[in-house]
Amino acid sequence: MKKVPHRLYLSEDQIPRQWYNLRADMKEQPDPLINPATMQSATQEDLTPVFCTELARQELDATTRYIDIPQEIRQMYKVYRPSPLIRAYQLEKALDTPARIYYKFEGNNTSGSHKLNSAIAQAYYAKAQGLTSLTTETGAGQWGTALAEACAYFHIPLTVYMVKVSYEQKPFRKAVICTFDGKIIPSPSDTTNVGRKILAENPHTGGSLGCAISEAVEAAVTTPGCRYVLGSVLNQVLLHQSVIGLESKMALEMLDEYPDVVIGCAGGGSNLGGLAAPFFQDKLTGKANPRIVAVEPASCPSLTRGRYAYDFCDTGKITPLARMYTLGSDFMPSANHAGGLRYHGMSPILSKLYHDGYMQAISVEQTKVFEAATFFAKHETILPAPESAHAIYGAMQEALRCKQSGEAKTILFGLTGTGYFDMTAYTAYQEGTMTDYIPSDEDLQRGFAGLPQVPGQPE
Ligand SMILES: *Cc1c(COP(=O)(O)O)cnc(C)c1O
Repeated sequence: MKKVPHRLYLSEDQIPRQWYNLRADMKEQPDPLINPATMQSATQEDLTPVFCTELARQELDATTRYIDIPQEIRQMYKVYRPSPLIRAYQLEKALDTPARIYYKFEGNNTSGSHKLNSAIAQAYYAKAQGLTSLTTETGAGQWGTALAEACAYFHIPLTVYMVKVSYEQKPFRKAVICTFDGKIIPSPSDTTNVGRKILAENPHTGGSLGCAISEAVEAAVTTPGCRYVLGSVLNQVLLHQSVIGLESKMALEMLDEYPDVVIGCAGGGSNLGGLAAPFFQDKLTGKANPRIVAVEPASCPSLTRGRYAYDFCDTGKITPLARMYTLGSDFMPSANHAGGLRYHGMSPILSKLYHDGYMQAISVEQTKVFEAATFFAKHETILPAPESAHAIYGAMQEALRCKQSGEAKTILFGLTGTGYFDMTAYTAYQEGTMTDYIPSDEDLQRGFAGLPQVPGQPE
């Protein structure tokens, strides 16, 4: 085996020239999106009022295996990519494990997360189409920040509907988004019908991601030259995020390494879907059989306790229906949940692969997540985002099992970002005021009760 440096950076030339579309290798496809107005499969025409034309095409393209990354997008990728693949020597030593742990670090850009990889692509296609503005939602703020950066670069005005609790708790996020000229509206707001309706029913609500999506979609479809863009869950986002996995695989090959286990945190599934894409390809084509593991919060357990059913992607119930693992679009994680990954559903691609046995999932309480985050920070010096720390937890568990069994497995995990805007949550953990809330079966039942009826689908 080659001597492995602490950090392996590929050269600029090695940034992938094509994204990899995992659906092209799937034996069975995810069920199609459904237009709730007609209850028929959503067509390109159904999607184009909401999405940019090229992105709608990518959303529905299940056959083109590799899609060229336009020159302008690669140009901006070069500003902050390739991202490093890091061998976690210090963590391995601290855990006294024979396992070799690698992580792909996506936090080396101002937005602090992997979300910029898709934001750049989406802003580019919007500009290329001649659109004059974009809307989106943001929860914790990473997506809003990433998209604001991308829109500033391609000169497109952006309105961000930001979940109200985040807006109030994260003033510095606002300042970053404003630096890139993003306009922020706390959601729910009185600027949309759906926002006004939600406020009338629940005037003191802190908002939710689903509700912010509803507002952003409504604003997009009612404003000429405007479209909506989303930072996770969608097929197109997983496609763009495949750069993470393609770079990781290439770097590991240079080290004569191949992962036995690939681990990622899972909110809507985009980083994990991107990181794992080329490894899923190997599984699907019979070349290799790495284990792929999603780690989700116990307070928002869509894969481990959700239903595989058609559901709306938003609380306002105006988006197309997607068949996915879901807790119901009305589900909201408890207010004390600080670990991110609060979305009610999961990428239809990952949902299908999980359903068909190509992926495993575990859930973890947030105090354990922050414990793992703190341990990792002390040994590897990176202060992780709470979201990313779910994957750290999963990797540490795996490494500890290797210590028990004596197996020297190769573990790859995705370190999606940095946690500098999450210091309130770190403080709560340090002061011992952070609690774990795991929803009861009755809590989950309330979310399932709101699932839409789709003809031909099991209840
Ligand atoms: C948004 C985000 C996630 C979760 O989103 P996925 O689509 O599941 O990848 C994870 N980590 C960070 C740092 C994020 O910003």
